[in-house]
Amino acid sequence: MASGRTHALITATLAMPTAATVGLLLSQGDVKLALIAGMGGLSGLLLHPDQDLDHLDFYEHRIIKWSWGLLAFWVGWWIPYGRLIPHRHWLSHTPFIGTIGRVMYLVVYLVIHYLVLTEGLHIRIEIQIELISIIYWVIGLSIADIGHWLADGMP
Ligand SMILES: [Zn+2]
Repeated sequence: MASGRTHALITATLAMPTAATVGLLLSQGDVKLALIAGMGGLSGLLLHPDQDLDHLDFYEHRIIKWSWGLLAFWVGWWIPYGRLIPHRHWLSHTPFIGTIGRVMYLVVYLVIHYLVLTEGLHIRIEIQIELISIIYWVIGLSIADIGHWLADGMP
């Protein structure tokens, strides 16, 4: 069982090899998709399996402090996730299953923000994201989660 600091170090360290590997594997050497996969890996710093903890960890306190409170809603959004899923449960820590579960939980977060901005505040927002970009982002995040899972001793 690794500490939060160790998990963060592993996640950040895996991002560059993830981008490089994806870039090498793509037949056209698509740099954009390789960078998106790397960013997916880095997003594992905010979207990691240990969000199944039912309390704020050291890094979440730091996130709130460093963002002057702007990311407090983000941290708070994960409290129900942590209360619903026991720590190191297969729903949060199993590669791909945990990743997809957190991505779906994130989608709800984004939809709520979108609806508040567009319907509540009447701010016009147009979002165009290619499905292939989302797929490569999830691949990068999945690799970060595999690193987390291995460091935790494959619970
Ligand atoms: Zn863990």
